[in-house]
Amino acid sequence: MSKVAVVTGAARGIGAGTAARLAADGFAVAIVDLDEAACKDAVDAIVAKGGKAIAVGCNVTDEAQVAAAFERVAAELGSVDVLVNNAGVLRDNLLFKMSVDDWDIVMSVHLKGAFLCSREAQKYMVKQKSGKIVNTSSVSALGARGQANYSAAKMGIQGLTRTLAMELGPFGINVNAVAPGFIVTEMTDATAARVGVSPEEFREQAAKITPLRRVGEPVDIANVVSFLVSDDASFVTGQTIYVDGGRRL
Ligand code: NAD
Repeated sequence: MSKVAVVTGAARGIGAGTAARLAADGFAVAIVDLDEAACKDAVDAIVAKGGKAIAVGCNVTDEAQVAAAFERVAAELGSVDVLVNNAGVLRDNLLFKMSVDDWDIVMSVHLKGAFLCSREAQKYMVKQKSGKIVNTSSVSALGARGQANYSAAKMGIQGLTRTLAMELGPFGINVNAVAPGFIVTEMTDATAARVGVSPEEFREQAAKITPLRRVGEPVDIANVVSFLVSDDASFVTGQTIYVDGGRRL
């Protein structure tokens, strides 16, 4: 039976790219997302290429929905071997304009979502004494104007990653994070619209300040997640791998 990977926020963008790569690697994939209709499109794309996937509509901030989602995955696919905590939202604003709602939703989706999903996933992983969790941080963890909420949440993800690596390591579970730089998705296109430039112009600006002189695509993150959940990375845990074309240099 195929190993099972759960990818949150997998209806589009980096999550969909990661789910497709893990399906190509041989995992049966659960596409977990708030947007159930788009989940089904992501499943169809995987199935069309001969992969196995199911769509699971779920708000990762809702404890009961998360518990039900993992129960469904285990019942339909057999277990949970890999969890990729990828669901995310942006609510950018300078501090003086940032509302409590802007703060709360970003903290909730990124941090509470990763906490709740990891807590469910470890039940299966601890029992089978193996598992891989990959969390999604960001270069913005290091500080980004207009992203006090997002930066704090993404640095929080790195603390969560190190702590879960310590707690779950004795059970044969590796916990790592990826920290993407600029990746072309609806999220970055929406940011372009917010700052009043075209998506193309926004990408060009980002490429200019990136040492590798290009922006990333979802596949750039998917490739690293694929490595982190593979046996080749079996002695790697508690790490955050920046996948950013050298943007921080
Ligand atoms: P995206 O907006 O294209 O996709 C995010 C997905 O998460 C959407 O399908 C959305 O429906 C889902 N989602 C949002 N809230 C949810 C919830 N409560 N429950 C379940 N699903 C929910 O974004 P993306 O660019 O693909 O980003 C994926 C991850 O990578 C996010 O965590 C993001 O913060 C991070 N990231 C992205 C970039 C980038 O440049 N695109 C850079 C660094 C980090």
